[in-house]
Amino acid sequence: MKKACSFCGRGEREVPLLITGLNGYICSDCAQQAYRIVKDTLPDESKAGDDLGFDLAKLPKPRDIKAYLDQYVIGQDDAKRYLSVSVYNHYKRLAQQKTDDGVEIEKSNIIMVGSTGTGKTLLARTIAKLLHVPFTIVDATVFTEAGYVGEDVESILSRLLQVADYNVKAAERGIVFIDEIDKIARKSDNPSITRDVSGEGVQQGLLKLLEGSVVNVPPKGGRKHPDQDYVHVDTRNILFICGGAFDGIEKKIAQRLNTHVVGYTSVQNMQRIDKGNLMKYIQPQDLKSFGLIPEIIGRLPVLTYLNPLDREALRRILTEPKNSIVKQQVKLFEMDGIKLTFDEEVLEYIVDKAVEFKLGARGLRSIMETIMMDAMYEIPSKRVKTFKVTLDYAKRQLEKANFDGLNAN
Ligand code: ADP
Repeated sequence: MKKACSFCGRGEREVPLLITGLNGYICSDCAQQAYRIVKDTLPDESKAGDDLGFDLAKLPKPRDIKAYLDQYVIGQDDAKRYLSVSVYNHYKRLAQQKTDDGVEIEKSNIIMVGSTGTGKTLLARTIAKLLHVPFTIVDATVFTEAGYVGEDVESILSRLLQVADYNVKAAERGIVFIDEIDKIARKSDNPSITRDVSGEGVQQGLLKLLEGSVVNVPPKGGRKHPDQDYVHVDTRNILFICGGAFDGIEKKIAQRLNTHVVGYTSVQNMQRIDKGNLMKYIQPQDLKSFGLIPEIIGRLPVLTYLNPLDREALRRILTEPKNSIVKQQVKLFEMDGIKLTFDEEVLEYIVDKAVEFKLGARGLRSIMETIMMDAMYEIPSKRVKTFKVTLDYAKRQLEKANFDGLNAN
């Protein structure tokens, strides 16, 4: 029998590849065509192989989650504990929906307050990596009220769908990190008569997502169009983690702490307050004074804070995390067969510069890159097996580059 594709009838020589079946053949072109038909007809079912259910017993416990976070994030113990517990509870919540006994565990979205570059995004990203769920980061500053120039809050879900490869079920249990949530705070404590396009209106829009509702999402992130089919995404099981620097919120915290000081015992309490880090006394009402509407605050029941990074933390960040900046450099050189080492003083110097330029953890990386740039350019073409970065070398490189911190990202 002549070998020919049972679908298009072309012979073995006319097609790129002919696959043999039990009673016939299929050519690679027809196989691809068939795949497309299956994908278009069964968008979700084609992914039914994905295991969307999960077993609570197999999920990492809060302590395990924290231990995992410890490998990547330095310090921030309180935030880690809060996150670990909330994420664990979130998944308990998903597990219990199958056994309906009337006790419904409510969703516990999280809000983390702390200066930029203290690890908020890193924490959220690390958690998502551990849980293998779709994860996306969105910046609240791009949102404006529906109908105005800018993005609608629904676009958050388009992005989540995108990272979930348009698998709606997977997206519906994903994690969304909303950065710079403080930027959509109402500008003044009094509701104003003029429209506050990027403030309260956006908060109202966001509320719908946080609460859990079925939201119509324009597919593939496109603009809304009357005859476009929407994808319906249920946000009930999506965990929202919000982060913001809330610059100046310490003042509100201090005010609240002060006004509560009446009488002798309170004076004693006041003395015990760590004035250097007021952030740790943050309460939901401070967020309200800052301009978040109470409904939003109510939907973000887990409130935690991040500490500012001191010298010691910065020093640890350089070397300790699993993918620390130093480890990454060593690896880069290792790939060229070169053993890279740093003198201890170099690391101290990098930290000093990050502190001097007020660059925080973000600055460590740009300082390191500046110091290493020449070496990364030259060394791979030289016949050397080792390279040691000394304090002298580091200083010279940084001075030569006129590093002033402005090129830090
Ligand atoms: P935020 O979201 O709070 O503004 P990021 O999480 O984006 O800050 O932190 C910026 C970078 O600084 C991270 O990519 C990471 O390299 C580093 N970093 C910040 N805080 C920490 C920390 N506590 N532990 C380890 N690295 C950190």
